[in-house]
Amino acid sequence: MGPPLFAHPLIRAILLAGLYLHIPFCEHKCIYCDFYSIESLDPIDSFVAALKLEIAMQSGRSADPFETIFFGGGTPSLLAPRTVGEILELLHATFTIDAGAEVTLEANPGTVDERKLAELRSVGINRVSFGVQSFHEDDLKFLTRIHSADQARDSVRAARRAGFDNLSLDLIFSLPGQTMERWDANLRSAIALEPEHISCYSLIVEKGTPLARMVESHQVSTLPVESDARLYEHTMDVLLSAGFEQYEISNFARPGLRSRHNSNYWNHTNYVGFGPSAHSYWNGRRWWNISNLRTYLEKIDSGELPVAGEESLTSQQLLDEEVMLGLRSGGIDLDGIERRYGVRLEDGSGEELLRLVADGMAVRDGSHFRLTCRGYLISDEVSGSLLSRVEMV
Ligand code: SF4
Repeated sequence: MGPPLFAHPLIRAILLAGLYLHIPFCEHKCIYCDFYSIESLDPIDSFVAALKLEIAMQSGRSADPFETIFFGGGTPSLLAPRTVGEILELLHATFTIDAGAEVTLEANPGTVDERKLAELRSVGINRVSFGVQSFHEDDLKFLTRIHSADQARDSVRAARRAGFDNLSLDLIFSLPGQTMERWDANLRSAIALEPEHISCYSLIVEKGTPLARMVESHQVSTLPVESDARLYEHTMDVLLSAGFEQYEISNFARPGLRSRHNSNYWNHTNYVGFGPSAHSYWNGRRWWNISNLRTYLEKIDSGELPVAGEESLTSQQLLDEEVMLGLRSGGIDLDGIERRYGVRLEDGSGEELLRLVADGMAVRDGSHFRLTCRGYLISDEVSGSLLSRVEMV
């Protein structure tokens, strides 16, 4: 069985929980990506059978409703819509799913057409997150994406015709040599497609990826930190002017259309993950699945949960995460933190909080303290500084 259900004394009022399904297949591995996936599609049927067994093993996890379902990966859009429908039916039969649940599927524009999108809509997907990354062909080639910019545009338009009214686009900035003009053109192209949500991530050179080897061997150079910061500031300027709200360091949404699933990750809401490498969090306990499809299949075949590791978060870890994640997203509740952890962040940092507000980097409303868009730029420094002055007893 999985980690036990228990009521951690520091957990905030129970919020509706989420379900995550990791679909570990990609047609081609992009040079920058360190998510777990394999390039062979042969084991898809065995994987789906095992995934269904893993879901069944978690029945009884909670009688409370789940409010989000997220198919991530890998490339979930490689699954046949009929298979996605079967998985959703099983989730509905196994758990209580909120009637208005947000059901997202990540899609690679190179793997969908209007018919497939319409079928995905008809089996219950109501939000699609497209991995666009760039609208410049040479960027897409550099990143070894399998699609063109036109395919990305066509996929978004096809999703509209298929009936989707909640679409998100992922973009990557700070590519080697990227100029402000080229990044600006990407942002304008994304806005022109009128998505409800845009995520903008700075390119990270993850250890062990082909990109890391290219950087180590000086084949490519990363952008200086100052250029990265300028591109990020420009991102905020352009998207906020276009009517998007920034609700997390990398995420922008039309009013009322934030990703509920991702928001839950940032506020310690419970979620259960299925599939290789999927992570779960439940009432102060975190566990993660094996990042290897073959071992995952063997474990499920022998009736065991495919868990690779688990930890019960200490009060200090919970506090650290609450402050760090809160400052990167919707803010922190100073009174709530005092109630739950017995620490007053203001004791050692009162002046710093005042200065951040005076400098326009933060906003204080009663006991709620949050960073402004400009403040997001220094969120790591602020959380490090606040946490360095508190000591839990
Ligand atoms: S398609 Fe997505 S998950 Fe697959 S390798 Fe590329 S970035 Fe990673």
